[in-house]
Amino acid sequence: MTSLSLPVATLGTPRIGPRRELKLALEGFWAGKISETQLLDTAAGLRAANWARQNSLGATIIPSNDFSLYDQVLDTSVMVGAIPDAYGWKGGPVSLKTYFAMARGSQGDADDVSCGHAHHGHGDTAQEMTKWFDTNYHYMVPEFHKGQTFKLSSRKVVEEYDEAKALGYQTRPVLVGPVTFLKLGKSDDAAVDPVSLLDGLLPVYVEVLQELGRRGAEWVQIDEPCLVLDLNETERSALQRAYARFAKDVPGIKIMLATYFGAIADNLPVALALPVAGLHVDLIRSPQQLNQIESGARKDLVISLGVIDGRNVWRSNLSALVERYKPVIAKLGAGRVQIAPSCSLLHTPIDLELETGLDPDVKSWLAFSVQKIAELSTLATALAGNAGVADALAASDKAAKARQTSPKIHDASVAKRMAAIDDAMRRRTSAFASRAEIQRKRFDLPAFPTTTIGSFPQTADVRNARAAHAKGMLTDVQYEQFLKEETARTVRWQEEIGLDVLVHGEFERNDMVQYFGEQLSGFVFTQYGWVQSYGSRYVRPPILFGDVSRPKPMTVEWWRYSQSLTKKPMKAMLTGPVTILNWSFVRDDLPRSEACRQIALAIRDEVTDLERAGATMIQIDEAALREGLPLRHSEWKTYLDWAVESFRICSTGVADATQIHTHMCYSEFNAIIDAIAAMDADVISIETSRSKMELLDAFTGFKYPNDIGPGVYDIHSPRVPETGEMRDLITLARKRLSDSQLWINPDCGLKTRKWEEVRPALVNMVAAARELRKAS
Ligand code: GLN
Ligand code: ZN
Repeated sequence: MTSLSLPVATLGTPRIGPRRELKLALEGFWAGKISETQLLDTAAGLRAANWARQNSLGATIIPSNDFSLYDQVLDTSVMVGAIPDAYGWKGGPVSLKTYFAMARGSQGDADDVSCGHAHHGHGDTAQEMTKWFDTNYHYMVPEFHKGQTFKLSSRKVVEEYDEAKALGYQTRPVLVGPVTFLKLGKSDDAAVDPVSLLDGLLPVYVEVLQELGRRGAEWVQIDEPCLVLDLNETERSALQRAYARFAKDVPGIKIMLATYFGAIADNLPVALALPVAGLHVDLIRSPQQLNQIESGARKDLVISLGVIDGRNVWRSNLSALVERYKPVIAKLGAGRVQIAPSCSLLHTPIDLELETGLDPDVKSWLAFSVQKIAELSTLATALAGNAGVADALAASDKAAKARQTSPKIHDASVAKRMAAIDDAMRRRTSAFASRAEIQRKRFDLPAFPTTTIGSFPQTADVRNARAAHAKGMLTDVQYEQFLKEETARTVRWQEEIGLDVLVHGEFERNDMVQYFGEQLSGFVFTQYGWVQSYGSRYVRPPILFGDVSRPKPMTVEWWRYSQSLTKKPMKAMLTGPVTILNWSFVRDDLPRSEACRQIALAIRDEVTDLERAGATMIQIDEAALREGLPLRHSEWKTYLDWAVESFRICSTGVADATQIHTHMCYSEFNAIIDAIAAMDADVISIETSRSKMELLDAFTGFKYPNDIGPGVYDIHSPRVPETGEMRDLITLARKRLSDSQLWINPDCGLKTRKWEEVRPALVNMVAAARELRKAS
C-alpha cells in the first residue's frame, strides 16, 4: 500500500466545550447577561476549535453541522420549518427566540429535572423531550400537525459548511436523515403516521443538498440510526423513496449513510439496496454484521468502519484492531474504507488530559473523544500498512495488558461471591401473600398509608453547604451538623403533618447514583468528564472500571440517626443495581449483566446491614430500569431477565417481616409488567398523576398482586394540587386496584421542588388519604 493512512472520520464531536463553555454562554444569554452576538461568537469559537482539534489529531473527514446550540433534532425541525403554531412563527428565518422557546418554553427549564436525568417534557410550552435511542442524550421531539407542510427555514447547515471552508476545512456536513427525523416525531393527528409526511419533506432536503453541492461539498453524512430499529414496511419503503430521490435530484453529492447504536440486521437488504455512496456501520455493538455487509454490498460502496467505541470511555486495543481489520481492508481495498468511531463522539467526554485526580492506572485505560480521534488516526495509519505508529501501538498494547490483569480491576473475592449466587439468593423466603400478612401485623398502618419517595427540597442552603464542604470551607463536623439539623427538621415536619411512613430527605446526597458510586469499589469519577444530557444540561457519569464491592456500610448511619428521631417507620433509601449501571459508563471487559450482578451483591450487603441495624422498610429505587430496554424487541427478554434477577439479588436477603419498596419514575409498564411483577417488591411507587391513572391499567389487567403507590402529586410542576384533585385520582386508582394494595405518595422525589410548594401539597395529600379513610 502506498497511501500514508486510510481516511479518518469522526462522525461528530462534543459541542459543549472542554470546560463547558457552551453551557456558560447559553445560560448567560438566557439570563440576559450576554448578548446574542456574544453567544454566537462563543459558538463559532467552539466550532473553530473543534475543527482545528480534529484536524490536528489526524481526522481527515471532518464534520460540520454536528454543532448545535441545543439539539440537532430541534435544528432539523427548524431547518424544515416544522414549527408548531404555538410559537407564533410567521415564516422566514427562525429567530433564536423562537428556537429557544421550542427548546425550553418561554419560562425556561429550571424545574424540569427530577432525578438528575431528564425524562419528561419540560417548561410549559417547550417541545417534549425524550431519549435519543439508548443514550442518555435527549432530543426535542418533532411535532407535526394536520396538513403539515415543510419549507427550508434555516440555513444553518450551509452557513456552518461555509464557515469551516473559510477556515480552510473541507467538511462533510451532517444531517439527521429524513426518515429518522419523521420516525422520531409525533403527529397531533392520531391518524397521520409522521413517516407518511416524507414526500412533502424531501424537497427541503433536496434543496439543502443542492445548495451544499453548489458551495463545494463533495460528501454529506446523513444519519439514519432508525436502521437499527425494528422497521415496518412503510418505514422501509420511505428509506427507499428518500434515497432514490436524492440519487436522482442531487447526483453530484456523495452520501455517507450513517447507522449506529446496533446491528442493521433484518434491515440490511434495504440498507444495501439504497443508492448511496457510503454506509457507516457500528462494529462495536455488532462486529459480526461486517461479513454480511462485505458480501452483500455493491462493489463500489464505501464502508465506514465504526471500530472505536463512541459510547464509552475505554482505550482501544489497537493492535488487536489492526489484526482484525487488516484482512477486511485487503479484501475491500483501501479505496473503499473509512475508519471511524461506532457513532458520533457526542456521547463521550472531551479530553482525558484535563483529569488530574484519576488513579494513574485507571487513567491509562481510558480514552475520551480527543484520545479516540488520535486512536482512529493511529489505526488508520497502521491499517494502511505504514509503520510510523509502532510506538503508539506498543503503548496501546501495554495498557490493554495491564488492564487485563490489574488487581485494581480483578477482585478474587468478588469472583467467588458471583460464583456462589444461588436460587436462595434470588427469592424471598415466603411468597408475597404471607409476607404481606406478617407485615400488616407488624406495621399496623392505616388504610391508604401515606409516604414520600425519598428526597426533600435540595435548597440553595443545602447545595451551598455541600459546595462549602467540598472546598474545605466547612469542616466535616460542621457539615455533618448542618445535615443532621436539616434531616431532623424534615423528620419532625413529616410527623407533624401526619405522614405514616417517613424518609430522611436525602440531603447528604449529591446524586442518587454518584452517592453510591463514590462509596463502592470499582468506580471512579472525573472532574471534566461532562457529556450532554440535553440542552445546557450535562452529566458526569461515574466510570465503572472494576469489580464492584462495598467496603463498608454506606447509608446505615444516616438511617440510624433519622430513625432515632421518630417512632414511625423510617424507610431506608437505596439506589438499585440496574439504575446505577444504566447511568454509568460501564466496563467493556465484562458483560453488562455481570457488572449488574456485582452491584446487586454490593447493594445486598447494604440491605442486610440496614436490616441488622433495625430498618423495617427499605426502598431500592430503579428509576432507570425501563430506559435500559434494548432498541430491538427481540433483546428485551434477555435484558429484563438479568435486570430483574439483579433486583432480586439485592433485595431478597431479608426476613419476611422486612418490607422492600421500589420506585420507578414512569408508568408505561404495559410491555414490561411481567418483569415488574417478577421483581416482587412488597411495595412499588410509580409516576401516574398526569395520566389520570389510566396507566395503572397495566397493573389491573395483570392483577398485579403486590402493593402499589400510584403518584397523586405531579412533582414536575410547581403547582400545588388540591386535596380534592388528589382524592379524585385515588378514586380512579381504586377502580383499578383493591384498597388493600394502595399507598398514597407523590410521583417522585421532591428534591427539585421548593418547600413552599412541598408543604401545602403534602398537607393536602395527607388530608386526601384521611378523607378516604373516613368514607370507607
Ligand atoms: N429516592 C429518590 C428521590 O426521592 C428517587 C428519585 C428517582 O427515582 N429518580 O429523589
Ligand atoms: Zn422518580
